[in-house]
Amino acid sequence: MEKVFRNYDAADVKTAVREHYRKMRMYQTYEYGQRMERKYLTFDKPMGLWEAMEHLNDLIDVSDPDLDLPNVQHLIQSAEAIRADNRPDWMQLAGLIHDLGKVMFLWGCDADGTSQAEQWGMVGDVFVLGCALPESCVYPEFNALNPDMQDSRYNTPLGIYEAGCGLDALTLAWGHDEYLYQVLKHHPTNTLPKAAMVMIRYHSFYPWHSGGSYTQFLKPEDAQYLEWIRDFNRYDLYTKSPKTYSLEAIREYYQPIADKYLGAGPIFW
Ligand code: FE
Ligand code: FE
Repeated sequence: MEKVFRNYDAADVKTAVREHYRKMRMYQTYEYGQRMERKYLTFDKPMGLWEAMEHLNDLIDVSDPDLDLPNVQHLIQSAEAIRADNRPDWMQLAGLIHDLGKVMFLWGCDADGTSQAEQWGMVGDVFVLGCALPESCVYPEFNALNPDMQDSRYNTPLGIYEAGCGLDALTLAWGHDEYLYQVLKHHPTNTLPKAAMVMIRYHSFYPWHSGGSYTQFLKPEDAQYLEWIRDFNRYDLYTKSPKTYSLEAIREYYQPIADKYLGAGPIFW
């Protein structure tokens, strides 16, 4: 039987996943998002790419109903699938690093939802902060738990934004996508193409890229973003398997690509 991915309704779906999303909906407010940006976007902690990869050996993403392997295995599986399809080297690298923002747990804490035990500020499908939550969110029954939905500044379809402002003007729920995107954007020797940066920044934005919500904010260039994301998402989703790799073994192939697009020096987290 063909495997069904992201089936949150299956009887065997872990209670932990549901609980994760309940907390995420409850605590991810606009004010929280602003506070996390101030706290984590400091770019003052040097750490090389491979060291960061190794740290993801210690993290299992609690929000992912499909994978209970260390996160670094998911990164390698994604990259290897992109490589097997002979896609461009920058896209292979995007696959290899797209979840690396989860290293946030190294300096995170339970209270922020950015620790090993509490991951609701780090992983999971994201939504827009500062406007009404759509029904396309996973577990929409938790939307009403978000305090912003009682706040007239934030609980309308536009909220704090203007119609047609474009995706880049939105603040999404705080998590690993935005963190890595901002870290790379501030990395002086980053030459990754725009498509790779969009794949990194928006891959968890399911209510938009798969749910079709938030059309009130889209501008023409966002159609290109959607194409990039849908292309990338197949590799993020359908490559999940129990097959494991050794980081050392794949490093020989990926290191020159990483050096080409990111430079050889450390990344500042
Ligand atoms: Fe991710
Ligand atoms: Fe991923």
